Amino acid sequence: MAKPAELASTKELIEKYIRRNGVPSIWCPGCGIGTVVGSMLRAIDHLRLRQEDVVIVTGIGCSGLIYNYLRFDGFHGTHGRALAIATGIKAANPRLHVVVPMGDGDCAAIGGNHFIHAARRNIDLTAIVINNQIYGMTGGQSSPTTVQQSRTSTAPRGHLERPFDVCELAKGAGATYIARGVTSNPIQLADLLERAMAHKGFSVVEVLSQCPVQAGRRAGRSEPWEMLQWLKGVTVSAKRGTDDVSLGKFITGELLKEDAPEWTEEYDKLIAIAGGRS
Ligand code: SF4
Repeated sequence: MAKPAELASTKELIEKYIRRNGVPSIWCPGCGIGTVVGSMLRAIDHLRLRQEDVVIVTGIGCSGLIYNYLRFDGFHGTHGRALAIATGIKAANPRLHVVVPMGDGDCAAIGGNHFIHAARRNIDLTAIVINNQIYGMTGGQSSPTTVQQSRTSTAPRGHLERPFDVCELAKGAGATYIARGVTSNPIQLADLLERAMAHKGFSVVEVLSQCPVQAGRRAGRSEPWEMLQWLKGVTVSAKRGTDDVSLGKFITGELLKEDAPEWTEEYDKLIAIAGGRS
């Protein structure tokens, strides 16, 4: 991996990485997905990854459209299967940097099994879980990360079930890099994504994000700035520690980083033996 570069301007990032024929995007004004994409591009650029070495794999939902707008090779998979497809791409060509942005429903509901097994295998992929705590594209239904008492289209009187903690789930399943960012702090988010992409092994960055249209509207926060203010209020940086101030809040920052065997190159050797290449 090349030495980190100086930060590019937003204009330079747009010119280099955004497909002109893809915009305007389908995302609603004020949606957090655009902020996540911006931080992801900044991380890729700062790491000086070659565009031809990066593959973006997505599933279904609003975040599933991310790859459409970017100048990378990409794959728009089926619902919940982005990590399975990404695993195949990485196994076929270990040289590639495979980045997998997913929504919370995509990752933790229909794709939950793929998520825990990708973590268990410690395959060298980066999963970005854009957690807006709702199914946005399909009409605002509760997802596995919906906060209790929030109103959704399937829980108009308030959601009763407990939510998954995506980072704890990843930790329990064996991911070797885990971080949580928030769209109200895109600079911290870019830094966390850069660290995740530089990590050798399965890395997960959960991003608390805003869906003003489906989640915000039902919570009385339909303006994007109201959602960003809310996100700021419910998060606290890991650097502050877990004191009274942080109780009941989402901790942001790097939560886990450990070295463990990563098997992509070993799989590649086995594939070569099986295929008579060595
Ligand atoms: S429905 Fe929500 S998540 Fe989907 S684009 Fe609109 S604001 Fe974003």
